[in-house]
Amino acid sequence: MRLKGFAIMILAFAFIFMLFIFLYDRGPEQQKQLMDSKSYSTISSFLDSVEMGKIIYVEIHPTKIIWKSKNEDWYEIYAPPALSNNLNFINKLHEKGIKVKIVAQKPTPFIYQTLITWGPAILIIIFIFWLTKRQAKNASNQIGSFSQSQAQEISPANKKITFEDVAGCEEAKKEVQEIIEFLKTPDKFRKLGARIPKGILLIGPPGCGKTLIAKAVAGEAKVPFFSESGSAFVEMFVGVGASRVRDLFKRAKEKNPCVVFIDELDAAGRHRGAGIGGGHDEREQTLNQILIEMDGFSTSETIIVLAATNRPDILDPALTRPGRFDRHIVISRPSLKDRIEILKIHAKNVPLATDVKIEEIGRGTPGFVGSDLANLINEAALIAGRRNKTSVEKIDFDDAKDRVQMGLVQHILMNDKEKRIVAYHESGHTLIAKSLLHSDPIAKVTIIPRGMALGVTQSLPEEDRHLYFKDYLLDEITILLGGRIAEQILGEGITNGAKNDIEKATELARKMVTEWGMSEKAGLIFYSESKDGIFLGRDIGQVKNYSEETAKLIDEEIKEIVEKSQESAVRILKQKKEILKKLAERLLEKETLEANEIDEIITVAKIDFSKLKESL
Ligand code: ADP
Ligand code: ZN
Repeated sequence: MRLKGFAIMILAFAFIFMLFIFLYDRGPEQQKQLMDSKSYSTISSFLDSVEMGKIIYVEIHPTKIIWKSKNEDWYEIYAPPALSNNLNFINKLHEKGIKVKIVAQKPTPFIYQTLITWGPAILIIIFIFWLTKRQAKNASNQIGSFSQSQAQEISPANKKITFEDVAGCEEAKKEVQEIIEFLKTPDKFRKLGARIPKGILLIGPPGCGKTLIAKAVAGEAKVPFFSESGSAFVEMFVGVGASRVRDLFKRAKEKNPCVVFIDELDAAGRHRGAGIGGGHDEREQTLNQILIEMDGFSTSETIIVLAATNRPDILDPALTRPGRFDRHIVISRPSLKDRIEILKIHAKNVPLATDVKIEEIGRGTPGFVGSDLANLINEAALIAGRRNKTSVEKIDFDDAKDRVQMGLVQHILMNDKEKRIVAYHESGHTLIAKSLLHSDPIAKVTIIPRGMALGVTQSLPEEDRHLYFKDYLLDEITILLGGRIAEQILGEGITNGAKNDIEKATELARKMVTEWGMSEKAGLIFYSESKDGIFLGRDIGQVKNYSEETAKLIDEEIKEIVEKSQESAVRILKQKKEILKKLAERLLEKETLEANEIDEIITVAKIDFSKLKESL
């Protein structure tokens, strides 16, 4: 569009300019005829011809001379004004009996003159003017759509989602049942004077189906569904978010009754008042606008606002006041039963081979949320497709699970020494895990680089864990440290490959001491240290609420836990050095060991960490 306009401008410009030139250069009629037949000559042949009396007629123009020879031929030469104005020269021609005519400069009509001097400039000015105007128009268009809500609307006629598409989440379904009734028959409730909640907050980890439930509410009630992400309200420019909120609710009111869904409410509705990291005014305005809109529903409007967050703790308290998001529905990670249900829903259109047991997959995926499971099935189908199969087999699911859990296989070229050290490291994790009483069973260990890791030791809890015992946590820390310690014990030097393990172990130990009351010296006190305060907008004055002495005590206790775990790991691995070596060798040879292959090598009795610790 822009290029086309530009080209047309240039063409018009060129055309008009050439027209001027053409018009200007056109002389009287006689000259036109002359132009047709004259030939160009040189000054010397002209002078010769004068001398030799070959010329009968000369026309002197300001910058050229045109003459006619005796045999009626016309010639033309360029003559400098000095020659044209030379009276002697003219006299000489006259003496030779040549008829001389002086042609004055043809006056250029005023209009041409003006156009030639000013035309191009005027055209350029018009062109620039046109360009800026166009840009301004574009910009204003952009701002117009910029401040509009980009909310997606799903009308009930579109493919609708109902509770049949949502597996598990029974509590949530029950909670929203009333809302669906209200959306269907608002008058029934109004007559009874019931105040139906306007806002419902869905709380849960990402991918656990919050959006899905919101859509299902609209689908069940057969009303339109508007969805917008809270982060879409937070823009660079102050006021844009607020105007998007206005726009979203304006559209919703036109379609009432309807459901408005705001995903990631925390992005727009964080605690006000911290003002760090910019964008704070903007967020405040956006938040205020949401509150204004929610307060402003008239009694005849049936709009239910559902919002999702996984950080209810950082929401501005104003959002959760009565009349706003006063109802909270917590959606937790799916249980084994729910996982199986979710898998069944998503596997509905996937042809499964007979060796695939949905129950087994469900059991092997603790901690997976709905989107992980949907993703797992999709990956498996993709893998089976790539293998040109007509149905998805167990092996495809296994590979898909590895890919989802451990990341894509990375083709990193490692030298033999590096590979050996990775094998030592992973063997260390595995052997410790197999030696400690409270640890999760090991499902697989591999030294094929995946995702960000050079090797992976994968454990698989026997059942969903809701509580973590202190023994289990101590074992976990010991397992995490086992990687580095194996590197040390097998003696090829230590590497930076343990960074992640060390970080996780420290983090666990810190939580044991400061949050879970698992250190005797630190006691049953919650040592809050809102590390995330700076990023999440809480008051930063409240970073640490304990004394320097306590800080020291906490550090000591954390160190104590880590050191004791480290000593235990050293002891276990030193004792079982031969097994460790054997495991590493087998791992180097096969690259991946499954649970049964590990069991073949490690046949040690499990020990209790606390007993081990006492004996240290
Ligand atoms: P959230 O909004 O909590 O981040 P979504 O609702 O967007 O999660 O879920 C992402 C996807 O995961 C859904 O589109 C759906 O395919 C799948 N999913 C999540 N939970 C469930 C569930 N309970 N039943 C069926 N599918 C689910
Ligand atoms: Zn490790």
